[in-house]
Amino acid sequence: MTHFPRKLALVTAFAALAAPALADSINVYSSRHYDSDDSLYQEFTKQTGIEVNRIEAKADELIARLEAEGDNSPADVFIAVDVGRVARAEEAGVLQPLESDVITSRIPQHLRHPDNLWFGVAQRARIIFYAKDRVETPPATYESLTDEEWKGRICIRSSSNIYNQSLLASLIEVHGEETAREWAAGIVANMARPPQGGDTDQLRGLVSGECDVAVANHYYFVRGFDGNVEGLSDGMDNIGWIWPNQDGRGAHMNLTVAAQTASSPNPEAAKALLEFLTSEWAQKYFAGQTHEYPAVPGVGLDEGTARLGLFVPDSTTGTDAYSRNAAKAQTIFNEVGWD
Ligand code: FE
Repeated sequence: MTHFPRKLALVTAFAALAAPALADSINVYSSRHYDSDDSLYQEFTKQTGIEVNRIEAKADELIARLEAEGDNSPADVFIAVDVGRVARAEEAGVLQPLESDVITSRIPQHLRHPDNLWFGVAQRARIIFYAKDRVETPPATYESLTDEEWKGRICIRSSSNIYNQSLLASLIEVHGEETAREWAAGIVANMARPPQGGDTDQLRGLVSGECDVAVANHYYFVRGFDGNVEGLSDGMDNIGWIWPNQDGRGAHMNLTVAAQTASSPNPEAAKALLEFLTSEWAQKYFAGQTHEYPAVPGVGLDEGTARLGLFVPDSTTGTDAYSRNAAKAQTIFNEVGWD
């Protein structure tokens, strides 16, 4: 940390020289919903002098807006909380490829679109949690969640949730549609209750005793360490976690993605912001403020996330498949009656 301010000063000096060629402000359409993202954009403004106007809404609403605005859209950058949502943006033609040596050198290939239409900026692990006092041998894989043993014991949120859609999209990619459908039906058969609430509520279900196994993104659990998550923090000691599929492809990762919009009125400034998102400062922000896993290798984790330990993430199932299979996943969820 001690060398960091000096580095930052250099970046700032460089940016000050480069700033006159760039726009005064840019517009970001983002489906991230974290108040702390203010500080992320403020830092970019500090480094470059470019103000960031952020419009937050659900990804589908933002894509519809981009489509409706067409060539006249003021948006420069699109940020989606999960790669599964960018399929619609791709189809709608509202994104454009971004050529950046900075981004391609920092972000691993499997976290980027093959034609640089978008790239990942931060990851969240979607993993399996369990009640230690009621589960002796927890399920080791996503596939084994459908075992008879877990009948009536699993809490998982609704299928309208993008995290589950991406998880199923990955299973479609790995096993094919038929097996993925059987898996989804198997989960429905094993649910402890009809899907309700967000990921935190699935973990609360472990504490309340409503379920023995829960599927949730890692940071909802990490937030519990802070001691002020009602219905969760008090029960943290009895919750164990499993990194799924460690003998195979690894744990499923949800990917936050960023892209340049097709109509971007300020392409140079958009590029500057997108490159900033891969900078050490921004990557540390994602790790520290929202307990995510940085997309850039070698950036450290925050204390809470580090407590979860090391694991193998799925880096073999191309993340573009989550976007490509998103529609199929939704169809399967509807077919099997996953609310
Ligand atoms: Fe989330």
